[in-house]
Amino acid sequence: PFDILVIGGGPAGASAAIYAARKGIRTGIVAERFGGQVRETLGIENLISVAYTEGPEFAEILEQHVKNYEVDIMDSQRAVRLERKELLEVELENGAVLKSKAVILSTGARWRYVGVPGEAEFKNKGVAYCPHCDGPLYKGKQVAVIGGGNSGIEAAIDLAGIAGHVTVLEFMPELKADSILQKRLYRLPNVTVIKNVQTKEITGTDKVNGISYMDRETGEVHHQELQGVFVQIGLTANTDWLGETVARSPMGEIIVDHRNATNVPGVFAAGDCTDSAYKQIVIAMGSGASAALSAFDYLIRN
Ligand code: FAD
Repeated sequence: PFDILVIGGGPAGASAAIYAARKGIRTGIVAERFGGQVRETLGIENLISVAYTEGPEFAEILEQHVKNYEVDIMDSQRAVRLERKELLEVELENGAVLKSKAVILSTGARWRYVGVPGEAEFKNKGVAYCPHCDGPLYKGKQVAVIGGGNSGIEAAIDLAGIAGHVTVLEFMPELKADSILQKRLYRLPNVTVIKNVQTKEITGTDKVNGISYMDRETGEVHHQELQGVFVQIGLTANTDWLGETVARSPMGEIIVDHRNATNVPGVFAAGDCTDSAYKQIVIAMGSGASAALSAFDYLIRN
């Protein structure tokens, strides 16, 4: 069996695997797709100490770094079940069952897509999901935020300080965000909120040049010219496969304590799949290290 088995090969999982392997214990990592979300990222400018890198390049370096250690990498493998028996057991989609004394869950998250024409086509070419990451690229430009929940309104407030103008498009007749955020938003001079509208299409040629939305009351379709669209309709943790085995929040995020331990002895979690307040690469890496050190501590005590 493994001493520590990491599930997920993004920044959190890679960090956890390196920290575990450096303790000289038997370490394995299972990843559906090594690198994780960063594979879909173009420029990364907030990975502290690396002024600029790009997603695919960063994913390669991440994998190389893990390969410097004795880590059993099982790439293109999907975990489908976790169970606590005498040891912890993780079943893979191909039927194999891996056993380990401790498990670190780092299966990340995915952004919910609006699913309109142009969204996939212009991803990273004007369609963005992370205001902390891509906001600065839209300095002085016209942008829209799709989604009027807390994340959408936070994004709009954040972007209003960078972009020339921000239009918020909300599907429902009212914004769902906390009233304190709404008050803050309505005080900003360069923000327009349009409610009760459905996004129909993100238009462009080689990059985004506008957005079409339908007034849900009249059925009228409007087109607005702009250069960026931030989709903010939710981040979903990749944790469905865990079912009831590990405590999760109503949002599906794995609940961890300040040592990255879950409610199940020997099971730790890190990165975007947890209820951590912020979802960023440096934070995922930090929590991966924390989870591995906690798992090691668990091993030497049990
Ligand atoms: P992930 O990166 O999501 O990795 C999850 C891993 O788990 C993957 O290997 C996946 O294949 C695997 N996995 C999932 N389910 C299973 C399963 N059942 N079995 C096995 N493996 C599984 N952050 C920044 O700091 N700066 C940026 O500039 C930035 N830009 C971004 C741009 C985009 C378009 C996106 C989508 C995100 C961006 N982020 C950025 C956020 C950053 O990518 C995440 O915070 C970070 O990747 C989280 O790392 P993670 O390891 O927790 O999860």
